[in-house]
Amino acid sequence: MAELLKRENGSLVYYISPQFLTFSGVRHAFFTRKGGVSSGIFESLNFRFSGGDERGKVLKNYAIAAAELGGEPENIVRATQKHTDIIKTVDAAVPGGSGFNIEEEGPVDALITAKPGIVLTGFFADCQILLIYDHKCRIAAVVHAGWRGVEKEIVRKVIERLAEMGSKPSDLTVAVGPSICRRCFETDDDVPERLSAVYGDQINEFIYREGDKWHIDLKSITYSTLLQLGVLPYNIDISSLCPRCGDGELFWSHRRDGEARGVNAAMIMMT
Ligand SMILES: [Zn+2]
Repeated sequence: MAELLKRENGSLVYYISPQFLTFSGVRHAFFTRKGGVSSGIFESLNFRFSGGDERGKVLKNYAIAAAELGGEPENIVRATQKHTDIIKTVDAAVPGGSGFNIEEEGPVDALITAKPGIVLTGFFADCQILLIYDHKCRIAAVVHAGWRGVEKEIVRKVIERLAEMGSKPSDLTVAVGPSICRRCFETDDDVPERLSAVYGDQINEFIYREGDKWHIDLKSITYSTLLQLGVLPYNIDISSLCPRCGDGELFWSHRRDGEARGVNAAMIMMT
């Protein structure tokens, strides 16, 4: 397990997984706020259409990010993430469309593709985004896993879906992007109760109490889940960065910024 690496290209700043660099057939990035064209509270690489930013600028931001991966804007596939465990396998963006087609199809929190050139995109503003690559089966995935996704075991369900497609967990490389740290993820009794209903006593390893609040270490739950499923420790890279207590110029945080904010994105594309 290693830390993500910072990359800069002109004004663009993003993070990549060192383990992914082992493979020539995949490009990926966890983008920061830097390097886009939006302004004000959306400055500058905002991927969120619904917050009040100008649509034309958001589209330009998508194009900037896709180009960094060597991808085409029309091959971007994104979803409206709603903290579900709904997984969708895609082999094309809508022909002739803008690529932003899944938005109308209802919530999807994990996207999988076996097709090179498709730019899978996920969004984060505290929640975990996992980028997954199988270099043998040539499959890529993006997974959105906040605490509700963890409760719904979306990571396990995606790994199982990949297995149905012929993928072995030991061949997977997984990168977990900047996401809320255990100090910042403060809750009442409800969240630990709901997680222990799913994970049993195991959850006690990942929660602690401070004052009258619980703190939950989602990154460690994800790491543990991946190991239990057979992903190898050295094939998992996890960012220690936290949008909430980290650099606000790099990341939006839902807990810190509320709804008056943009959203960060991560992308993965097989070449
Ligand atoms: Zn934090």
